[in-house]
Amino acid sequence: MNILIIGSGGREHAFAWKISQSKNCTQLFVAPGNAGTATLATNLPIAVSDFAGIAQAVKEHSIEMVIVGPEDPLVKGIVDFFKKDKSLKKIKIVGPDAAGAQLEGSKDFSKNFMQKYGIPTAASQTFTKDTLAEGLAYLEKQSLPIVLKADGLAAGKGVIIAESLKEAQQSLHEMLAEAKFGDASSKVLIEQYLSGIELSVFVLSDGKNYKILPEAKDYKRIGEGDKGLNTGGMGAVSPVPFADEAFLQKVEERVVKPTLTGLQAEGIKYVGFIFVGLMNVNGEPYVIEYNARMGDPETEVVLPRIKTDMVKLMKATAEGKLDKIKLSLSPKAAIATVVVAKGYPEDYRKGDLMQIPEAEKDTIIFHAGTKPGDDNSVLTNGGRVIVSVGMARTLNSARQKSQRLAKNIIFDGRYYRKDIGKDLLKFLKE
Ligand code: ATP
Repeated sequence: MNILIIGSGGREHAFAWKISQSKNCTQLFVAPGNAGTATLATNLPIAVSDFAGIAQAVKEHSIEMVIVGPEDPLVKGIVDFFKKDKSLKKIKIVGPDAAGAQLEGSKDFSKNFMQKYGIPTAASQTFTKDTLAEGLAYLEKQSLPIVLKADGLAAGKGVIIAESLKEAQQSLHEMLAEAKFGDASSKVLIEQYLSGIELSVFVLSDGKNYKILPEAKDYKRIGEGDKGLNTGGMGAVSPVPFADEAFLQKVEERVVKPTLTGLQAEGIKYVGFIFVGLMNVNGEPYVIEYNARMGDPETEVVLPRIKTDMVKLMKATAEGKLDKIKLSLSPKAAIATVVVAKGYPEDYRKGDLMQIPEAEKDTIIFHAGTKPGDDNSVLTNGGRVIVSVGMARTLNSARQKSQRLAKNIIFDGRYYRKDIGKDLLKFLKE
């Protein structure tokens, strides 16, 4: 079957890598893709939110299945667009419709959803411009730190953890009265701060059945020791040693099952990935957020641990037949280190020539912000440039492989964290 992946990051390169290993994939396309996907697939120069352009490409290349990587097209209704059009209706598409994508697109929706279906989450209240005065007064009664969240998508910048009442009140004012994040902050959630250790669990849902994929932990901050500015993600680890069977069992019973039951009760046929961001608070799982797609860089450690044929898995998802699939996983640990451009996550340069080594056994290179240059060269084309993945029987050995490979990826001003996964070694008896 001919398959199209939508997106251009490390996540989409990982999807392309896994799908291209399947004999069930005839031709593979990525829109718009990067220099890495270009080696496995045909890149199509179409923006992720250009639905008409994507529809045209689907017809032109006889594409039978579409896998949507990022959240933007999902929240904007790419799945609804396909379902509405008679000539596209039959195309299998992995991703939720706009109603399902609200789990990510609106934090107010997802909070109400969790409260309605008894899913453990931090206590919260939502305020708007009209109730700003109540919100400012409400803050005075809360303990610190306190979390403020813009309702809509704000490119990962819409969450503020305020350490003082003054900071909290100022942030609430900026978001509601000054529309700091535009429409995304027309509603703001004031949420209780949860103290614990974070991890993510990924669920694949076909609308009725589900599979739980390997869990992962990501590293958000630019600096070692998780210090400094927030980024799209500087690394990821799977499995997560502190997420033992008992904890994952609680996640399945208290979070995954009620989430899927709740979606069905709301009349939402959710087809696609659900990324459940969790806080482990003394062994108890609380949901911090849902995303309506896989994470990046978590995908780069989750997919290499899945042994099941990816095309079969995606097709079963789109067709509502996940109950027929046996998910087979690798016991190996995978660690991803993200190599970024100098200056990221603030201003950074693009267009630098890269030297990329051959990946050795049990290592994989996934491109993120890269583009093909002249004469088979590769140029930087984003803040998060490239991802080095190491796999091994032990987490420490996977770490060493990932780090060694990252060190050998050379371009001007490149930077990567040297401590990805280091904090997890204390949970191991390796
Ligand atoms: P991203 O796009 O980076 O996933 P987001 O903008 O969707 O983030 P959240 O994931 O909800 O926002 O929050 C961002 C981060 O803020 C979380 O990863 C977590 O570290 C922290 N956070 C969010 N809610 C809480 C909470 N209630 N208590 C403590 N920390 C929190």
